[in-house]
Amino acid sequence: MIIDFHSHIWSREWRNEAMWDAMADLLAERLGADSQNVSRDALKNEIFTNYLDPSGERHLQQMEEEGIDVTVLHPLDYGLASAGEAPTAIEEQNEAHAELVKKYPDKFVAFVGVDPRRANALELLERGVTEWGFKGLKLHPAAGFFPDDEAWDPLYRKACDLNIPLLTHTGHISPPLDESFARPANVDALAARYPELNIIAAHMALDWWEELAEVGRRRPNVSTDISGWQPNVTVDEDSFRSALKGMLESIGAERILFGTDGLVFGRAIAAGDWIKFIDGLSADEGGEALLSRDESAAVLGLNAQRMLAL
Ligand SMILES: [Zn+2]
Repeated sequence: MIIDFHSHIWSREWRNEAMWDAMADLLAERLGADSQNVSRDALKNEIFTNYLDPSGERHLQQMEEEGIDVTVLHPLDYGLASAGEAPTAIEEQNEAHAELVKKYPDKFVAFVGVDPRRANALELLERGVTEWGFKGLKLHPAAGFFPDDEAWDPLYRKACDLNIPLLTHTGHISPPLDESFARPANVDALAARYPELNIIAAHMALDWWEELAEVGRRRPNVSTDISGWQPNVTVDEDSFRSALKGMLESIGAERILFGTDGLVFGRAIAAGDWIKFIDGLSADEGGEALLSRDESAAVLGLNAQRMLAL
């Protein structure tokens, strides 16, 4: 069972132009040396041509070709960030995910993606889970809020009542989003306050993985996903290996989840090769295997299956 715990679909109207520019800039930066000659406009065009996927069909095709059984989709609410609202309201974006889950119940799982500062955040969370069958809450603090702010306690209490996990972005991201809200340390007090809430700090916090390792060591309810690390694997494999090794020592394989962060990182490494790379970490020769066979199977899907009760 292979589960992609962290992916995204988009329609052109789900972000405004400033946010598409930001995505192109971030992509250029993350893809590193091999894309330095690619302009922002060229990357934007590539995103619009190859990676949007509002119907989910590209995901389904990739899942079929690359061997992914289930993909977890996370709507992104950037509307209260300084760049302003997207043309399509966040409620409608979540509803579009509900249609996908309804159409392909064995293939897609969705989380409710909402900024906790919205007046209807609690209502949207409850509707998403009870009416649409969504299986978690996704927050993107870089839009401008601290995830451990007690003002969001009603939302977290509801997540506990509904017995669903929280996935919250951690790690570097570029303006107009503000990465200072997305430090792993900002998850610590929240994890302490809600020991029964499963919290997934996304992207293994990228460059801040050591900070996440410290938080994870203290907080048994904090897990992570490895989505977004694909460019490291192609450019500087050792940086990923040492981060993963550190996280394994801190939180163990049962709290690490496989993910892609969407079709766009297929530009760095195909999803199937990303899976093979993780699987291969249990087959290294010379006694240097980072994972046991059981641990690689856990990371690639069994942990997610357990956490989402699939
Ligand atoms: Zn993401």
